[in-house]
Amino acid sequence: MTIKTKVAYGVVFLFVVSFAIGGIGIFYIQQISKDSRNIIKDNYESLEYMQAVIEASDLAITHPDTLFSMERNIRLQEENITEAGELEQTQGLRKAFDKFKINRNDSIALIEIKQAAHTISTINMQAIFAKNGIAQDTARRASLYLILISTFVLLIAFTFTLNFPGYIANPIVKLTAGIKSIANRKYEERLTFDRKDEFEELAEAFNLMAEKLDEYEHSNLAKILFEKKRIEIIINMMSDPVVGLDEKNRVVFANNQALNLLNLKSEMLLGRYAPDVALKNDLLRTLLQNGTTQSQVIKIIVDGKENYFNKEAIPIHYTATAENEFVSIGQVLLLKNVTSYKELDLAKTNFIATISHELKTPIASMQMCIKLLQDNRVGALNSEQQDIAKTLAEETTRLSKITNELLDLTQVESGNIKLTLGKVLPFEIVNFAVEAVKFQSERKRVPILTEIEKDLPSIQADMDKTSWVLINLLTNAIRYSPENEKVIVKVFTKNGNVYFEVQDFGIGIESKHLDKLFDKFYQVPGTSSGTGLGLAISKEFIEAQGGKVGVRSEIGKGSIFYFQLSQ
Ligand code: ADP
Repeated sequence: MTIKTKVAYGVVFLFVVSFAIGGIGIFYIQQISKDSRNIIKDNYESLEYMQAVIEASDLAITHPDTLFSMERNIRLQEENITEAGELEQTQGLRKAFDKFKINRNDSIALIEIKQAAHTISTINMQAIFAKNGIAQDTARRASLYLILISTFVLLIAFTFTLNFPGYIANPIVKLTAGIKSIANRKYEERLTFDRKDEFEELAEAFNLMAEKLDEYEHSNLAKILFEKKRIEIIINMMSDPVVGLDEKNRVVFANNQALNLLNLKSEMLLGRYAPDVALKNDLLRTLLQNGTTQSQVIKIIVDGKENYFNKEAIPIHYTATAENEFVSIGQVLLLKNVTSYKELDLAKTNFIATISHELKTPIASMQMCIKLLQDNRVGALNSEQQDIAKTLAEETTRLSKITNELLDLTQVESGNIKLTLGKVLPFEIVNFAVEAVKFQSERKRVPILTEIEKDLPSIQADMDKTSWVLINLLTNAIRYSPENEKVIVKVFTKNGNVYFEVQDFGIGIESKHLDKLFDKFYQVPGTSSGTGLGLAISKEFIEAQGGKVGVRSEIGKGSIFYFQLSQ
């Protein structure tokens, strides 16, 4: 039976009981009221009539007008005969009254009147007592019935009060607990109500929902596991070693290539705190060094052969749904095998080194021959021949400069820069460099001014390489200055470092080229007189000594190239 029907039945039952109690009460109240009405009408009135007859009979002899009152009351009594024996007594009263009317001095008749009236009063009095007893019985019976019904109703109401809240609330409590379990992803939760009402339907619906969620969860989990497997396989298939770290530096994944390279088994690496593993693994320690985003080339010996890997540390950020902030969730360490490129690069460097080296001797011979050619002792040249010899001399000097720069570049590229460090006074470097470019500056009429701070400390530097850099900067400054414009060399200390600045007032450089000027072979478009190697080699020479190079320039106004070295 449904709860709705049960509640409806309960309400109907309460109505019926209320009607029953009300009906019984009204019935008995009417009964009692009818009894008392009957007493008044049937007996009490007779008592009054007889009282009046007795009073009138006392005065009947002396006051004849009382006959009239007696006559009226006896007639009323004759109309109100209700009790057994009352009729005979009333007839006797009538007879005695009739006799008395004929003879008004008949005292016997008067006595008979009084006796009959008394008897009638007694009969009615007794009837009143009897009827009162009946009324009291009725009232007792009514009370009994009402008490019985009320007790019965109270018992039912008490049982109802005890059971009904639980009947409604218990399933709701169970349902609430079930919903909470589902919210906590316990989809195996089921509800059973051992009853046939709406709650059973609710339990069935709940169980169906839980079952579907369970199915969905399992199908999703299987999907996620499959996708995870797929990604693991893809990472494993990659030919480059990959290691994934979470935000707490624990290893989340590492492919077979990475495990082979690190010479570790997966259980020794996965899920472990990377710096802990790195304590006993030099390669992992190197991989974890140097911040997060830098890329660097690492040399690793694999199977007895030198291999070069370009290490990239890629930070992983995550943005939660409907949020704007990035959250760091770790990093991926990627090692790209660049051995083949490195080998090609090395072959190229060796090739350039060999060629440049081999060219040096013939160029020196050529320079010697040109010098001899220009010597009058060998034979006089006519003016045309002298011009040709001069051009030859200039071009061989240029060729010599290019081969020298290429040779320096090979030194730089192979990482074989040999520094001869020692204490050097800055003005020595400046004097040497200015002297070296004196001829060019005079020829182009670009004077070189020097502003050297007093009492400069000596610096820890390679005299030859540093002079080479300053000469290169001065040569460029002269080359890109107009005639009769000066070039200033400044040397000063700042923040404990010694700065060398070469300032010219020449063509200047557009800002878009500035960050590429120190790259190998880079030349500002439209200026193709050199190799584009001078500044790149300068940078390497200065950085090898722990210094820094830089440039400030404005198109049309000139440039300032500088480098800094520590004391
Ligand atoms: P290059 O041998 O070609 O001069 P560098 O590496 O010395 O090679 O210079 C690279 C480029 O920088 C040059 O091609 C030139 O365009 C520019 N450059 C260098 N110095 C100056 C300067 N003082 N003024 C203007 N441009 C310059």
